[in-house]
Amino acid sequence: MRKLNSTKLLVATHNGGKLDEIAALLDPYKILVSGAAEHKLEEPAETGATFAENATLKARAAALATNLPALADDSGLEIEALAGAPGVYTADWSETSSGRDFTLAMQRAYEWISQTRAAPPWHARFCCTLALAWPDGNKTVFNGIAEGQIVWPMRGTNGHGYDPIFQPYGYDQTYGEMDRWEKNKISHRADALKQFVETCLG
Ligand code: IMP
Repeated sequence: MRKLNSTKLLVATHNGGKLDEIAALLDPYKILVSGAAEHKLEEPAETGATFAENATLKARAAALATNLPALADDSGLEIEALAGAPGVYTADWSETSSGRDFTLAMQRAYEWISQTRAAPPWHARFCCTLALAWPDGNKTVFNGIAEGQIVWPMRGTNGHGYDPIFQPYGYDQTYGEMDRWEKNKISHRADALKQFVETCLG
């Protein structure tokens, strides 16, 4: 597997929450992260059917546009009572005519679960796939998972996205109630990034 011989890394995301988490997770390794906006990259359409396909297409587009190795994250929430939805469409559930609204997305998830009449605990997992792509076409993919349950009402104002309704197993706080340091010890993104660090750094 190819190593990253640089202290700088382009992370091909426009999502500030993801970028902050990846920057914090790579800080101990002295890797300085820059985001898609800094490189004036456009957001490619996420046309893949899987997290791996979407992460790869985002990483490849950024590597080709910049001639730098690029890391991309595709992630989402799989809710058992909804047969794995929203999955790759997790961000889409937040779309409104005036931009993304994650309060609405979380309400939507809760309403759909309620309609199934499934009894709690509502098992769910957060998935994160990271793809590292190089300008010459080389690519490696890493998968991370965090198992937990959906809770209602929303709890906590930390983090981003669906954090206030996801409570990881073994914890009585939601991601939204945890501080960043705590979430970064156990999250799906931390799981995937750990594998990236073991494989590509050092
Ligand atoms: P995408 O990877 O750009 O398709 O977006 C994934 C979506 O999943 C994000 O917009 C968030 O809504 C959600 N998501 C991914 N990771 C997290 C997380 O750590 N906390 C909360 N929501 C997340």
